[in-house]
Amino acid sequence: MEVTILGSGGIESVPKPCCTCKRCKESTKKKGKFFRTGPSLFINSANVLIDTPEEIRIQLIREKISKVDAIFYTHWHPDHTMGIRIIEQINKDCHTDKPKNKPIDVYISKDQFNLLDKFLIRKELFDLYESQKLMKKHFLKDSESVKFGKIEIEAIKFPKSSAYYYLIKEGNKKIIYMPCEIEKIKELNKLKNADYLIVHFSWFQEKGICVEFPWRFSEVPVERILEFVNNLSIKNVIFIHIDECHDKTYDELKNQEKKYKKFNVKFAFDGMKIYL
Ligand SMILES: [Zn+2]
Ligand SMILES: [Zn+2]
Ligand SMILES: [Zn+2]
Repeated sequence: MEVTILGSGGIESVPKPCCTCKRCKESTKKKGKFFRTGPSLFINSANVLIDTPEEIRIQLIREKISKVDAIFYTHWHPDHTMGIRIIEQINKDCHTDKPKNKPIDVYISKDQFNLLDKFLIRKELFDLYESQKLMKKHFLKDSESVKFGKIEIEAIKFPKSSAYYYLIKEGNKKIIYMPCEIEKIKELNKLKNADYLIVHFSWFQEKGICVEFPWRFSEVPVERILEFVNNLSIKNVIFIHIDECHDKTYDELKNQEKKYKKFNVKFAFDGMKIYL
Protein backbone atom coordinates (compact mmCIF):
# COMPACT_ATOMS: atom_id res chain seq x y z
CA MET A 1 0.00 0.00 0.00
CA GLU A 2 1.18 3.49 -0.82
CA VAL A 3 -0.30 6.67 0.67
CA THR A 4 0.80 10.31 0.45
CA ILE A 5 0.19 13.04 2.99
CA LEU A 6 -0.79 15.80 0.57
CA GLY A 7 -1.12 18.47 3.25
CA SER A 8 0.31 18.40 6.78
CA GLY A 9 -1.13 21.73 7.97
CA GLY A 10 -4.46 22.49 9.60
CA ILE A 11 -6.75 25.48 9.98
CA GLU A 12 -3.83 27.91 9.84
CA SER A 13 -0.90 26.27 8.14
CA VAL A 14 2.61 27.72 8.13
CA PRO A 15 3.29 30.18 6.58
CA LYS A 16 0.28 32.22 7.52
CA PRO A 17 -0.52 35.11 5.17
CA CYS A 18 0.59 38.55 6.37
CA CYS A 19 2.46 37.03 9.35
CA THR A 20 6.05 38.14 9.98
CA CYS A 21 6.89 35.72 12.83
CA LYS A 22 10.15 33.73 12.55
CA ARG A 23 8.37 30.46 11.72
CA CYS A 24 6.42 31.98 8.85
CA LYS A 25 9.50 33.80 7.55
CA GLU A 26 11.56 30.59 7.64
CA SER A 27 8.79 28.66 5.92
CA THR A 28 8.40 31.27 3.15
CA LYS A 29 12.15 31.32 2.55
CA LYS A 30 12.97 27.59 2.69
CA LYS A 31 9.70 26.17 1.28
CA GLY A 32 9.78 22.32 0.86
CA LYS A 33 9.23 20.54 4.18
CA PHE A 34 8.91 23.90 5.92
CA PHE A 35 5.81 24.94 3.92
CA ARG A 36 2.52 23.30 4.95
CA THR A 37 -0.81 23.19 3.12
CA GLY A 38 -4.24 22.05 4.39
CA PRO A 39 -5.06 18.54 5.65
CA SER A 40 -5.48 15.89 2.96
CA LEU A 41 -4.43 12.28 2.28
CA PHE A 42 -4.15 10.41 -1.02
CA ILE A 43 -4.29 6.62 -1.14
CA ASN A 44 -2.17 6.05 -4.24
CA SER A 45 -2.96 2.34 -4.42
CA ALA A 46 -6.70 3.10 -4.75
CA ASN A 47 -6.80 6.58 -6.37
CA VAL A 48 -8.74 7.78 -3.34
CA LEU A 49 -8.57 11.23 -1.80
CA ILE A 50 -9.56 11.99 1.80
CA ASP A 51 -10.72 15.63 2.21
CA THR A 52 -10.28 18.61 -0.09
CA PRO A 53 -8.62 21.63 1.58
CA GLU A 54 -8.33 24.94 -0.27
CA GLU A 55 -4.94 23.98 -1.74
CA ILE A 56 -6.01 20.59 -3.09
CA ARG A 57 -5.41 21.61 -6.74
CA ILE A 58 -1.81 22.57 -6.01
CA GLN A 59 -1.31 19.39 -3.93
CA LEU A 60 -2.53 17.06 -6.72
CA ILE A 61 -0.36 18.82 -9.29
CA ARG A 62 2.68 18.79 -6.99
CA GLU A 63 2.39 15.01 -6.45
CA LYS A 64 1.73 14.37 -10.16
CA ILE A 65 -1.54 12.58 -9.35
CA SER A 66 -3.32 11.78 -12.59
CA LYS A 67 -6.49 10.04 -11.42
CA VAL A 68 -8.98 10.45 -8.57
CA ASP A 69 -11.73 7.80 -8.48
CA ALA A 70 -13.25 8.71 -5.12
CA ILE A 71 -13.26 11.36 -2.41
CA PHE A 72 -14.04 10.59 1.26
CA TYR A 73 -14.90 13.41 3.66
CA THR A 74 -14.09 13.29 7.37
CA HIS A 75 -16.27 16.25 8.41
CA TRP A 76 -17.70 19.55 7.21
CA HIS A 77 -15.08 22.01 8.57
CA PRO A 78 -13.74 24.49 5.97
CA ASP A 79 -10.10 23.36 6.21
CA HIS A 80 -11.28 19.90 5.01
CA THR A 81 -13.90 20.85 2.42
CA MET A 82 -13.28 24.25 0.84
CA GLY A 83 -11.48 22.77 -2.15
CA ILE A 84 -14.58 20.83 -3.22
CA ARG A 85 -14.55 22.55 -6.63
CA ILE A 86 -11.65 20.20 -7.47
CA ILE A 87 -14.43 17.86 -8.64
CA GLU A 88 -15.19 20.07 -11.64
CA GLN A 89 -11.53 20.98 -12.13
CA ILE A 90 -10.69 17.29 -12.48
CA ASN A 91 -13.73 15.97 -14.25
CA LYS A 92 -15.26 18.71 -16.41
CA ASP A 93 -14.16 19.18 -20.00
CA CYS A 94 -14.61 22.91 -20.49
CA HIS A 95 -14.49 22.58 -24.31
CA THR A 96 -17.57 20.37 -24.41
CA ASP A 97 -19.08 21.09 -20.97
CA LYS A 98 -19.26 17.31 -20.48
CA PRO A 99 -17.59 15.04 -17.91
CA LYS A 100 -14.15 13.76 -18.91
CA ASN A 101 -14.47 10.46 -17.04
CA LYS A 102 -17.00 8.51 -15.03
CA PRO A 103 -18.48 10.37 -12.02
CA ILE A 104 -16.14 10.67 -9.01
CA ASP A 105 -17.67 8.77 -6.07
CA VAL A 106 -18.03 11.10 -3.08
CA TYR A 107 -18.52 9.54 0.39
CA ILE A 108 -19.70 11.48 3.43
CA SER A 109 -21.82 10.90 6.54
CA LYS A 110 -25.39 12.16 6.24
CA ASP A 111 -25.08 14.25 9.43
CA GLN A 112 -21.89 15.90 8.19
CA PHE A 113 -23.50 16.52 4.79
CA ASN A 114 -26.35 18.35 6.52
CA LEU A 115 -23.89 20.42 8.60
CA LEU A 116 -21.96 21.28 5.44
CA ASP A 117 -25.22 22.42 3.83
CA LYS A 118 -26.19 24.47 6.89
CA PHE A 119 -22.89 26.24 7.52
CA LEU A 120 -20.76 26.24 4.41
CA ILE A 121 -21.52 24.55 1.08
CA ARG A 122 -25.12 24.23 -0.09
CA LYS A 123 -26.36 20.78 -1.06
CA GLU A 124 -27.46 22.34 -4.37
CA LEU A 125 -23.80 22.34 -5.44
CA PHE A 126 -23.73 18.54 -5.00
CA ASP A 127 -27.04 18.34 -6.94
CA LEU A 128 -25.52 20.41 -9.75
CA TYR A 129 -22.38 18.25 -9.94
CA GLU A 130 -24.52 15.10 -9.89
CA SER A 131 -26.79 16.43 -12.67
CA GLN A 132 -23.64 17.12 -14.72
CA LYS A 133 -22.42 13.56 -13.96
CA LEU A 134 -19.19 14.93 -12.48
CA MET A 135 -19.72 13.05 -9.21
CA LYS A 136 -21.97 10.62 -7.41
CA LYS A 137 -22.78 11.12 -3.75
CA HIS A 138 -22.92 8.22 -1.26
CA PHE A 139 -23.95 8.47 2.38
CA LEU A 140 -21.64 6.34 4.51
CA LYS A 141 -22.85 4.76 7.73
CA ASP A 142 -20.70 4.20 10.80
CA SER A 143 -18.52 1.06 10.34
CA GLU A 144 -19.43 0.80 6.66
CA SER A 145 -16.55 0.06 4.32
CA VAL A 146 -15.86 0.49 0.62
CA LYS A 147 -13.44 -1.67 -1.37
CA PHE A 148 -11.06 -0.54 -4.11
CA GLY A 149 -9.38 -3.73 -5.32
CA LYS A 150 -7.38 -5.02 -2.35
CA ILE A 151 -7.78 -1.79 -0.38
CA GLU A 152 -10.68 -1.44 2.05
CA ILE A 153 -11.67 1.90 3.59
CA GLU A 154 -13.87 1.79 6.69
CA ALA A 155 -15.66 4.82 8.15
CA ILE A 156 -15.62 5.02 11.94
CA LYS A 157 -17.59 7.62 13.90
CA PHE A 158 -15.92 9.43 16.79
CA PRO A 159 -17.57 8.87 20.20
CA LYS A 160 -18.54 12.54 20.64
CA SER A 161 -19.00 13.80 17.09
CA SER A 162 -20.65 12.67 13.88
CA ALA A 163 -17.32 13.21 12.08
CA TYR A 164 -15.62 10.14 10.67
CA TYR A 165 -12.08 8.91 10.75
CA TYR A 166 -10.98 6.15 8.40
CA LEU A 167 -9.36 2.76 8.79
CA ILE A 168 -7.50 1.89 5.59
CA LYS A 169 -6.68 -1.80 5.22
CA GLU A 170 -4.86 -4.04 2.77
CA GLY A 171 -4.59 -7.65 4.00
CA ASN A 172 -3.24 -7.35 7.54
CA LYS A 173 -1.79 -3.85 6.97
CA LYS A 174 -3.68 -1.02 8.63
CA ILE A 175 -3.50 2.78 8.61
CA ILE A 176 -5.79 4.89 10.80
CA TYR A 177 -6.43 8.40 9.41
CA MET A 178 -7.73 10.66 12.18
CA PRO A 179 -6.91 14.21 11.07
CA CYS A 180 -9.30 16.37 13.13
CA GLU A 181 -12.25 16.46 15.57
CA ILE A 182 -10.54 14.24 18.15
CA GLU A 183 -12.80 15.40 20.97
CA LYS A 184 -12.88 11.88 22.36
CA ILE A 185 -11.18 8.69 21.23
CA LYS A 186 -12.00 5.12 22.10
CA GLU A 187 -9.88 1.99 21.85
CA LEU A 188 -11.68 -0.34 19.42
CA ASN A 189 -10.53 -3.91 18.81
CA LYS A 190 -10.42 -3.39 15.05
CA LEU A 191 -7.76 -0.67 15.47
CA LYS A 192 -5.36 -3.02 17.32
CA ASN A 193 -1.84 -3.47 15.95
CA ALA A 194 -2.32 -0.80 13.28
CA ASP A 195 0.87 -0.01 11.40
CA TYR A 196 0.25 3.74 11.44
CA LEU A 197 -1.92 6.28 13.21
CA ILE A 198 -1.97 9.53 11.23
CA VAL A 199 -3.47 11.92 13.73
CA HIS A 200 -4.23 15.54 14.59
CA PHE A 201 -1.36 17.17 16.48
CA SER A 202 -3.43 18.64 19.30
CA TRP A 203 -1.70 19.99 22.42
CA PHE A 204 0.57 18.80 25.22
CA GLN A 205 -0.81 18.75 28.73
CA GLU A 206 2.67 18.84 30.22
CA LYS A 207 4.92 20.51 27.70
CA GLY A 208 3.15 23.81 27.30
CA ILE A 209 2.48 23.69 23.56
CA CYS A 210 -0.67 25.53 22.66
CA VAL A 211 -1.98 25.61 26.23
CA GLU A 212 -2.73 29.31 25.91
CA PHE A 213 -5.36 28.56 23.25
CA PRO A 214 -8.53 27.60 25.15
CA TRP A 215 -10.25 26.09 22.08
CA ARG A 216 -7.58 23.40 22.04
CA PHE A 217 -9.02 21.85 25.18
CA SER A 218 -12.03 20.55 23.27
CA GLU A 219 -9.64 17.98 21.75
CA VAL A 220 -7.75 15.23 23.56
CA PRO A 221 -4.11 16.08 24.42
CA VAL A 222 -1.09 14.35 22.89
CA GLU A 223 -0.64 12.41 26.14
CA ARG A 224 -4.06 10.75 25.62
CA ILE A 225 -3.21 10.02 21.98
CA LEU A 226 -0.03 8.24 23.07
CA GLU A 227 -1.95 6.26 25.71
CA PHE A 228 -4.36 5.20 22.91
CA VAL A 229 -1.35 4.18 20.79
CA ASN A 230 0.09 2.17 23.65
CA ASN A 231 -3.22 0.46 24.54
CA LEU A 232 -3.77 -0.59 20.92
CA SER A 233 -0.12 -1.52 20.18
CA ILE A 234 -0.02 0.86 17.22
CA LYS A 235 3.41 0.72 15.61
CA ASN A 236 3.96 4.28 14.29
CA VAL A 237 2.45 7.71 14.88
CA ILE A 238 2.46 10.58 12.38
CA PHE A 239 1.22 13.95 13.55
CA ILE A 240 -0.53 16.13 10.98
CA HIS A 241 -2.83 19.17 11.10
CA ILE A 242 0.12 21.19 12.40
CA ASP A 243 -0.90 24.80 12.86
CA GLU A 244 0.87 28.13 13.04
CA CYS A 245 -0.39 28.53 16.63
CA HIS A 246 1.63 25.50 17.68
CA ASP A 247 4.50 28.03 17.73
CA LYS A 248 7.07 25.41 16.75
CA THR A 249 9.59 25.58 13.94
CA TYR A 250 10.27 22.52 11.82
CA ASP A 251 13.49 21.83 13.77
CA GLU A 252 11.74 22.15 17.13
CA LEU A 253 9.19 19.56 16.02
CA LYS A 254 12.02 17.25 14.86
CA ASN A 255 13.38 17.46 18.43
CA GLN A 256 10.00 16.32 19.78
CA GLU A 257 10.38 13.19 17.63
CA LYS A 258 13.46 12.26 19.65
CA LYS A 259 11.57 12.73 22.93
CA TYR A 260 8.78 10.40 21.81
CA LYS A 261 10.98 7.86 20.05
CA LYS A 262 9.40 5.05 22.07
CA PHE A 263 6.16 5.58 20.14
CA ASN A 264 7.88 6.04 16.75
CA VAL A 265 6.50 9.56 16.48
CA LYS A 266 7.06 11.57 13.30
CA PHE A 267 5.81 14.99 12.33
CA ALA A 268 4.42 14.99 8.80
CA PHE A 269 5.50 17.23 5.95
CA ASP A 270 3.72 17.86 2.68
CA GLY A 271 4.42 15.03 0.26
CA MET A 272 5.40 12.51 2.99
CA LYS A 273 4.89 8.94 1.74
CA ILE A 274 4.05 5.76 3.57
CA TYR A 275 4.74 2.39 1.97
CA LEU A 276 3.40 -0.74 3.60
ZN1 LIG B 1 3.57 33.26 11.74
ZN1 LIG C 1 -9.28 20.47 10.72
ZN1 LIG D 1 -12.24 20.08 12.06
